[in-house]
Amino acid sequence: MKVAIIGAGYTGMTIAKRLSENNIDVTIFDKESQVGGMTRNVKVGKTTTDRYYRHIFKSDKEVINLAKELNVEIEYFKSKMGYYIKDGLYDWGQVIPLLKFKPLSFVQKMKFGISVLKIKAIRDWKGLEQYTIKEWFVKNKIEDIYSFIWEPLLKNKFGDYAQEISMVWLWGKINLRKTETSLNKETLGYIDFEKMNNNMQENLSDSKVVLKLNTPVKSVEKKNGKYKLDDDNQEYDIVISTIAYEQSEKILRKLLTKEEKEKLEDVKYIGAKTMILEIKKKLTNYYWLNIADEKSPFCGIIDYHNMENIPTKDIIYISNYIDTSNRIYKLNKEELLEEYLPFIKKVNKNFNKKDILNYEVIDEQYAQPIIETNYSEKILNNKLKEEGLYIATAPQIYPEDRGVNYAIRSGYKLADEIIKELKDKE
Ligand SMILES: Cc1cc2nc3c(=O)[nH]c(=O)nc-3n(C[C@H](O)[C@H](O)[C@H](O)COP(=O)(O)OP(=O)(O)OC[C@H]3O[C@@H](n4cnc5c(N)ncnc54)[C@H](O)[C@@H]3O)c2cc1C
Repeated sequence: MKVAIIGAGYTGMTIAKRLSENNIDVTIFDKESQVGGMTRNVKVGKTTTDRYYRHIFKSDKEVINLAKELNVEIEYFKSKMGYYIKDGLYDWGQVIPLLKFKPLSFVQKMKFGISVLKIKAIRDWKGLEQYTIKEWFVKNKIEDIYSFIWEPLLKNKFGDYAQEISMVWLWGKINLRKTETSLNKETLGYIDFEKMNNNMQENLSDSKVVLKLNTPVKSVEKKNGKYKLDDDNQEYDIVISTIAYEQSEKILRKLLTKEEKEKLEDVKYIGAKTMILEIKKKLTNYYWLNIADEKSPFCGIIDYHNMENIPTKDIIYISNYIDTSNRIYKLNKEELLEEYLPFIKKVNKNFNKKDILNYEVIDEQYAQPIIETNYSEKILNNKLKEEGLYIATAPQIYPEDRGVNYAIRSGYKLADEIIKELKDKE
């Protein structure tokens, strides 16, 4: 039994780990020179750092267990969150910051608090599937809370798709992520993914997984019951694609049914353009700053200087979820910096371009699937109609949202299903 996996992110790597532990021959193909997918690292000047700002929650059991197994320590820090609105910086996130939050009236604060409690009390998310987030707030007669709080945050995450996002997505964010909180701050975990990826790669090679890096897969064909990937000289019984829907559709096209193609085409993604600045000093006192200002060209600042208790790097991320057709997505790094500088200065008037030691910009075309209403109808089974063909990737994670923890969970789940199927056939 020979299995080919397309993609060496955490979905692909955990499938490979579980299958190889069960004595199945696995080969992973990845177009990049490093494993880890979106958790790969990047060089900014002489500093190596996360490609994207990255933290985990205490409820992220799968990633916590995997880190333990790979001897990677998780460092926990108290995260202070902020909200930039109407030219002011405010604490945000927990009970005390909410009570002190000046842009909301007392009545609005109460309404906001009650809306969160109400969402927390909902057990059956299926009843929410038909509503967009806006529709749910309108139905509950708290549209002002939607417009003031959630709409700017949703626009930050989903851009022009904000109005289409299903209430199940917000329900998931509030109910499925459990974290330790105090009245002021929440506790988040930080993992050194450079170490985690190296240890995972070593673990896979100890289990005899063949890793073909710098090897983009362009097409998959099937002849006499065996799969062939491009001009690779091996034949495979099973192929598992862990890449974005649009990319899978391209390379598996000849093997898909009409319905499978339609489902792959039906889910939209938003891109991400992330600027990484190497700066010796903090930009603000917040680890995570949401920018809720229509005029801002970016949507958040994540400042690694503010990971309390962790000696981290002099790195700051300027985050931006943005449609890939947007003018800003197409800017080069110098143009993007010029676009961002005036607004960075609004957030911190003492900021000076000369403070920047180095910077890089990373584009991610398929950063986040758009979770629309009645999304469960759009979900594609991992197992496709063609015998031995599977897809496991972010849009199939629901009602949770994409993230490393769920990539690992879905990887193990699919591997276990394949192992069971093979055993049943014996
Ligand atoms: C800006 C940003 C911030 C994030 N922050 C967090 C966070 O704080 N916490 C968290 O848990 N998650 C975070 N995530 C999400 C998380 O990184 C992903 O959900 C997770 O890493 C996805 O893993 P994956 O294996 O499913 O996909 P990927 O990591 O995308 O792996 C897919 C792999 O397939 C390869 N590939 C693509 N096409 C081909 C081809 N044709 N041939 C061969 N190989 C190919 C790619 O090179 C890649 O290595 C963030 C994502 C973004 C964009």
